[in-house]
Amino acid sequence: MREEIHFGSKKIDFTLIYSDRKTLGITVSPEMEVLVKAPLETSLEQVKVKVHKRAPWILKQLDYFLSFQPRSVPKKFISGETHLYLGRQYRLKVSLSEKKSIKLKGKFIEVSTPELNQTELIVKNWYLKNAERKFREYAEPLITAFQKYDVKPEEIILRNMPTRWGSCTPKGKIILNPELIKAPKGCIEYVIIHELCHLIHHNHNSDFLALQTREMQEWEKWKNRLENLLA
Ligand SMILES: [Zn+2]
Repeated sequence: MREEIHFGSKKIDFTLIYSDRKTLGITVSPEMEVLVKAPLETSLEQVKVKVHKRAPWILKQLDYFLSFQPRSVPKKFISGETHLYLGRQYRLKVSLSEKKSIKLKGKFIEVSTPELNQTELIVKNWYLKNAERKFREYAEPLITAFQKYDVKPEEIILRNMPTRWGSCTPKGKIILNPELIKAPKGCIEYVIIHELCHLIHHNHNSDFLALQTREMQEWEKWKNRLENLLA
């Protein structure tokens, strides 16, 4: 069953399974699923107390490096509104026209649409298309660089994740949040490198950090930029 506890400002979701065992065990999978196995006679309250006690360890295992707290105000998709693209602010300029089009021009994202209420969809599709193109472009040399470690992601896919910028599966699929397209190139590279490092080390131990630093000296700078991104 799905349960949760709160630890400070953080929420930890976990799956609770009762089994015939003597002690409570907690594991965090590379996909960042928290699994708690408890002896049959344990009450939910006791389980929660134990999970709470181990919370610092769990949070360390969880991919907090790439935590994603959307700090955006809901957008209206009207002229004059600012939108981020690759770390730069652009102003939306919407005009009515028979044909749909969207392009970057100077400091503007210029949108033409037959109906104003289509603007949001046009803009969102444009972001997604560019995310797919840019992420692949940025990932290519990084994937090549990791070939010296004999690893290669099975594929890179885009998926909206409410709380994460990136993740990887045990089979080596790298998942990137398309919202990353709002961040500067360095932030996107950081997330890709971070996930590539997970193909070698599945947690955030010192070997992982050493590798990440070897592949990106300034990763902390980009991590901070990402965490302070106001989308
Ligand atoms: Zn990680």
